[in-house]
Amino acid sequence: MRRVSVFGATGSVGVSTLDLLARRDDLQVAVLTGGRNVDLLAKQAVAHRAERAVTAFDDCYQPLKDALAGTGIAVAAGPGAVLEAGHVPADWTMSAIVGAAGLAPGFAALSQGRIVALANKESLVTAGPLLLAEARAHGATILPVDSEHSAVFQALTGEEIAAVETVTLTASGGGLRDWPMERLRHATPAEAGTHPNWDMGQRITIDSASMFNKAMEVIEAHEFFGLAPDQIAVLIHPQSLVHALVAFRDGAVMGHLGAPDMRHPIGYALNWPSRAALPVARLNLARVGRLDFAEPDLARYPALSLARQVMQTGGCAGAVFNAAKEIALDHFIARQIGFLDMAAVVDSTLARFADLGRAPQSLADVLAIDTEARALAQQAARARHAGAA
Ligand code: NAD
Ligand code: MG
Repeated sequence: MRRVSVFGATGSVGVSTLDLLARRDDLQVAVLTGGRNVDLLAKQAVAHRAERAVTAFDDCYQPLKDALAGTGIAVAAGPGAVLEAGHVPADWTMSAIVGAAGLAPGFAALSQGRIVALANKESLVTAGPLLLAEARAHGATILPVDSEHSAVFQALTGEEIAAVETVTLTASGGGLRDWPMERLRHATPAEAGTHPNWDMGQRITIDSASMFNKAMEVIEAHEFFGLAPDQIAVLIHPQSLVHALVAFRDGAVMGHLGAPDMRHPIGYALNWPSRAALPVARLNLARVGRLDFAEPDLARYPALSLARQVMQTGGCAGAVFNAAKEIALDHFIARQIGFLDMAAVVDSTLARFADLGRAPQSLADVLAIDTEARALAQQAARARHAGAA
């Protein structure tokens, strides 16, 4: 039986992954990991007959242990236990922890030389070259799960990357797309955390409204597909039905269309290299009627310009960008800084970080850069908070 593990099982991508796994009887679930949502993790572990359930938080050990008493499911807690779970044999691993915390377990899973379905975009943004080298060294396959990257990956099947002129990632523009700039300044986390098309975790939903998510995805595409910064474009597409476009040197453009449902890219990665039937809505273009596209306004979405700067700088700029973005988002969610302050915090952190061009040499190096960048971003966020108060 094919063994599968899901890191971040209790999150939005994790729940969609388990929905697909539940429809199969040819899989054995090795590990499920979660965070503080112990009740859900325990329910999932029982329903999927997992061998092991792991919470990332030490203080959740006892509640998880109690919830799984008598089931025979092994229980563990803490970041070390999550990392160790990456070494539990699995043929297919979903990497869907949110944030930099997903980095180390993903590396561990790659060392098994099997398939890692990568939803955790932070891994590629912070440590792209190291991650790809790790996969190569162990003969592992990384399959992109971000919907746009899965779309590009599918459009590139059987194609040479040298024949690609440009790749366009689409963006819905998020929940605040039509707000005037002045109103954006005062947007609350609740307002920014509502998405018109995709049902996702709170953090990525806010990142969609600010386009920090798209900025991360541009860097992700640059790293994963080895494209130059000027080969990657972003187009606002409110319907979220075209996920990406690949333009080739002969003028052909391959687009990937489908309902906005993460079970498509997850299912594609689960069944790759085949395609199997998936329970996603079918596209009816006659009913849709029209598809709209527009250039994003860079003044409105400074995150996109920051992404370009990160790609041009290379080195550790991606790790600094991601860390600063996470801190800025924390401060926005805590209502200490405004919506538009997030980009200013990231910008200032990139400007103040010494030796941005130095490439990290190891995972430990990436984590050290992450810590340093977080401290700088904290200062920048506090300064903005104080300035606004
Ligand atoms: P989420 O917030 O819904 O879930 C995150 C998961 O990570 C949960 O299981 C949580 O318990 C776990 N977690 C949180 N903090 C942790 C920690 N410190 N250590 C270990 N585990 C921890 O997030 P999500 O929306 O499912 O996104 C997961 C990843 O997939 C992110 O990197 C996101 O950018 C990416 N992604 C998500 C979507 C989507 O539709 N939600 C689409 C594309 C890519
Ligand atoms: Mg995406």
